[in-house]
Amino acid sequence: LKRAKNFNAGPSALPLEVLQQAQQEIVDFKGTGMSIMEMSHRSKTYEDVHNEAQELLRELMGIPENYHILFLQGGASLQFSMIPMNFLQRGQAAGYVLTGSWSEKALKEAQLLGETFIAASTKEGNYRRIPSLDELQYDQNAAYLHITTNNTIFGTEWSEYPDTGNVPLIADMSSDILSRPIDVSKFALIYAGAQKNLGPSGVTLVIIRDDLVERGTQDIPTMLKYSTHAKNNSLYNTPPTFGIYMLGLVAKWVKQQGGVEAIYKRNLAKAQLIYDVIDASNGFYLGHAEKNSRSLMNITFRLKTEELEKKFLEESKQQGFVGLNGHRSVGGCRASTYNPVPVESCIALKEFMEEFQKKNG
Ligand code: PLP
Repeated sequence: LKRAKNFNAGPSALPLEVLQQAQQEIVDFKGTGMSIMEMSHRSKTYEDVHNEAQELLRELMGIPENYHILFLQGGASLQFSMIPMNFLQRGQAAGYVLTGSWSEKALKEAQLLGETFIAASTKEGNYRRIPSLDELQYDQNAAYLHITTNNTIFGTEWSEYPDTGNVPLIADMSSDILSRPIDVSKFALIYAGAQKNLGPSGVTLVIIRDDLVERGTQDIPTMLKYSTHAKNNSLYNTPPTFGIYMLGLVAKWVKQQGGVEAIYKRNLAKAQLIYDVIDASNGFYLGHAEKNSRSLMNITFRLKTEELEKKFLEESKQQGFVGLNGHRSVGGCRASTYNPVPVESCIALKEFMEEFQKKNG
């Protein structure tokens, strides 16, 4: 069996066990003689898959009972618009913390729909760090405060979250959901495109507190209201059934790995292997993020010259590594070490980086 050493930033690697189970069930799901894709979304068989995926997430993330778990479409990018549409009322302003390209995109959509302000920004210095909690500026009248918990492109990640009092805290967790234990009750709304830690693209997970569902603007299109999806258990229209089934399998896999705490320990160890090479390289590899803002999911670094970077990327490809190029907007290199990336791939990358430095340093 040939599997790539896959460090793609998204869509990214899936656990082999999950793919193999899906492969087995693809023509006959549990004796139905059908694939899950061919089945009515109103059938009991599908509904069980749907509800089980929600229950597993609730258990793994410790999601309290007063939160809805929604499976939507449109990616995290549609959430950039749905959030202000539902929660940015006239007379209020929404705060955005800018920590990278995705938070900028979220802000841009909100600016089309209402008043906004920048609660903090680390753009100066090219997003190398997460602001400290006391840098955040907002008052208790803010409609909400929006943060991006992991910055996929720049490779920085929040390690603690603000206590925002009555201001709803909204988080884009697209690239670090389910990778570390979090206290869901600190957040009013969490959203994530599935294609990194949760499954294939096409499903967007939204975890939303009951009072926000009630509070949302009502005179907007039906499909764009959280209340529509909350009232209908994400079955108002045809949901992305195959993606939700896959998300359920991934959640089951996380549980089998020992849950989020165990996955977190593994993620720490995986990222450490690569950060250690960067730190011991005497400047041969230059990490982008400041040390205390480093992401466990996306490790961003450069080499001294673009020529050397090109050589690094070419040789890595020849050795079976996939996806080590940085995002087109920042260049350089990036290793994305999401939950499904096995420790063995990280060890192989560590060895490749050391070897490359020996030959070219
Ligand atoms: N937010 C973050 C942090 C991301 O990493 C991404 C995609 O990489 C997005 C939002 C956009 O997600 P989608 O492609 O699901 O719209």
